[in-house]
Amino acid sequence: MPIQFTRSWTDPEIALFQDTVVRFIEEKMVPGDEAARHRGDVGHALWSEAGAAGLLCTDIPEAWGGGGGDFRHEAIMHEEMARRGLTGMNTSVHSIVAHYFLNHGTPEQKAYYLPRMARGELVGAIAMTEPGTGSDLQAVRTRAQREGDYYRLNGSKTFISNGKLAGVILVVCKTDTSKGAAGISLMAVETAQCKGFRVGRVLDKIGLKAQDTSELFFDDVMLPADALLGGVEGQGFYQLMADLPYERLIIGITAQAAMEGAYEHTLAYVRDRKAFGKSIADFQNTRFKLAEVATEIQVGRAFMDRCIEQLLKGELDTATASMAKLWGSEAQGRVIDTCLQLFGGYGYMNEYLIARMYTDARIQRIYGGTNEIMKEVIARAM
Ligand SMILES: Cc1cc2nc3c(=O)[nH]c(=O)nc-3n(C[C@H](O)[C@H](O)[C@H](O)COP(=O)(O)OP(=O)(O)OC[C@H]3O[C@@H](n4cnc5c(N)ncnc54)[C@H](O)[C@@H]3O)c2cc1C
Repeated sequence: MPIQFTRSWTDPEIALFQDTVVRFIEEKMVPGDEAARHRGDVGHALWSEAGAAGLLCTDIPEAWGGGGGDFRHEAIMHEEMARRGLTGMNTSVHSIVAHYFLNHGTPEQKAYYLPRMARGELVGAIAMTEPGTGSDLQAVRTRAQREGDYYRLNGSKTFISNGKLAGVILVVCKTDTSKGAAGISLMAVETAQCKGFRVGRVLDKIGLKAQDTSELFFDDVMLPADALLGGVEGQGFYQLMADLPYERLIIGITAQAAMEGAYEHTLAYVRDRKAFGKSIADFQNTRFKLAEVATEIQVGRAFMDRCIEQLLKGELDTATASMAKLWGSEAQGRVIDTCLQLFGGYGYMNEYLIARMYTDARIQRIYGGTNEIMKEVIARAM
């Protein structure tokens, strides 16, 4: 029996959903990935198709236009893309933004944004990072100043995932500059015909080539007062912190799935490739390296599955979720590096999936809170 990385939380209904996801990915995403990598984004049409297929906002209640499922449905979607090295369509960020609306939005905000996000008509983005600050979120300089029934938004953001295609952006800003965390709010900016809003460069990265990571500029953008998430100023930092377990676990599970995909891909390659009259797979070094990798992946699967089960029960704490992000992304780097070595020179060629997985893996240790910040969070819980 070959080694398999089975999920502890699957069932017949989830298995059926997985079939739908895999079919969509193979038919709609894989064929267009090369063009998306050259273009630097996956295009709006794919988002709409994913929405029409019921693959977006799967864990948002049906009452708000979502799929009415739970985190297992989300995990299937994120994992199956990561397993195939498809990193252009950032459904993770989209789901995270949907959850900000679900957990912290007013009923009007939920009704206004969530159904369109679920249909893929509006792509979601979250804009925290600025040229001058990343890890130190309290130092953001983007400002939303109240003027009568409006807020005047000024500032700039960088490294924003889905930045170019986004239809709605949650902008982290200060509504009170005299306060630190208590002066932070989230403003929902709908990008269509938004005067004063501009997408800057789509940034040239070493990996995630099909992902539209962008600069964003807000110059005197006038937002109606009801753009304030939740309707109460100064709640932004609390809102961001409350959703961290969900966000960090998504990074952990995509890391896990990428490792599983890399292992399967590598196994097939070393069985096929010959040197010194035999398969690369027959060398003891190859066998031992893959044995190490398979072991690490099995251990990771057990931990990630436990985190998923805890999240489903509403019991996943921030420190444990940070461990999932920290361990998952570090293991992903180790595992994919080992796999790439077994491809020899071909592993260094962009046309090979393993090369893409290698460059794509590097960011996992940086975004979503750097791994150094993860250690701070974990250490604080001791
Ligand atoms: C491809 C990509 C996609 C991204 N997507 C988004 C997005 O959608 N939205 C968004 O808002 N941001 C996004 N980011 C930004 C990302 O979250 C930040 O880059 C990250 O949080 C780090 O911030 P920074 O780059 O300013 O680094 P800094 O904060 O300047 O950190 C530099 C180094 O110092 C270390 N450091 C900082 N503080 C401490 C500390 N207290 N203790 C120990 N070490 C510390 C860091 O760990 C890091 O190693 C993205 C970035 C990339 C590259």
